[in-house]
Amino acid sequence: EERAAVARWRGPARTADDVAVKLLANVADVPTAEAATGAPVEGVGLFRTELSFLNRADEPTVEEQAEIYRGVLEAFGVGRYVVARTLDAGSDKPIAFATHQGEENPALGVRGLRLSFDNPGLLDRQLDALQLAAEQSGVETWVMAPMVATVAEAAQFAGKVRDRGLRAGVMVEVPSAALLADRMLEAVDFLSIGTNDLTQYTMAADRMATNLAHLTDAWQPAVLQLVATTARAGAAADKPVGVCGEAAADPLMACVLVGLGITSLSMAPAAVRPVGVALGRVSLDDCRAAAAAALDAADPAAARAAVRDLLG
Ligand code: PEP
Ligand code: MG
Repeated sequence: EERAAVARWRGPARTADDVAVKLLANVADVPTAEAATGAPVEGVGLFRTELSFLNRADEPTVEEQAEIYRGVLEAFGVGRYVVARTLDAGSDKPIAFATHQGEENPALGVRGLRLSFDNPGLLDRQLDALQLAAEQSGVETWVMAPMVATVAEAAQFAGKVRDRGLRAGVMVEVPSAALLADRMLEAVDFLSIGTNDLTQYTMAADRMATNLAHLTDAWQPAVLQLVATTARAGAAADKPVGVCGEAAADPLMACVLVGLGITSLSMAPAAVRPVGVALGRVSLDDCRAAAAAALDAADPAAARAAVRDLLG
């Protein structure tokens, strides 16, 4: 019966008391975008553009990049929107022609937007390609940067994106960005929380280390507090704050995130229907109570148990 409810679910997502929550897909390239169009989503919340660079010895040309980006945009088409993330190179995503070699500590090194600023031509060419793809397809395109740590970085990035007529945002993946979310939002149009990296950097625990899974858990109260701070800033500024890390794909956590004030959830397409069904069974007040209980809990296990008790 549960499986039938999930299979039947069509979207768009609404809580039981009719509060809209945008559900979006995470995609990597044209084939995964085409596969994701069958999911009941309002667009793409995380287009990981670096995956098109990973197996290349040289940087793709602007025209090559634009063709890939246009393919993803056209898969979704006018009426839906796509949030493209600029090159997230370095650390767990090494790019042959860009990543710095021999860093002692690559996760804390020149990665994400730091690498783009280190090699500004690379970022400019990628933004030119995104602008071209947006103009050719007519699909609403938002652009965000990964691994942003300071407001100055956010402002510099937003300037380049807006110069090209696109909506600019940054990912909240570093605790400094969450703590300064209100000031980040003065510089950008939206925020998207990458809970995978935000958890890694908050807990100082490598996201790839399976023996640290008890720490790399977005249900950690410290992580939830940073999400709450970020969502509160979004509500105060009346700007969208989404979550695009793995946490968004967990139906219980999705209710907590909505209770914290998150306005969109982006996830692997297979997770969309179960999350949509879970949200349809709870009210915004239920979500707020769940969020308060999760924030109050001593540890992730207690947080999950408290929320499960409340939401059934
Ligand atoms: C994240 O860090 O949560 C995120 C969505 O980005 P990635 O997993 O690609 O680092
Ligand atoms: Mg990340």
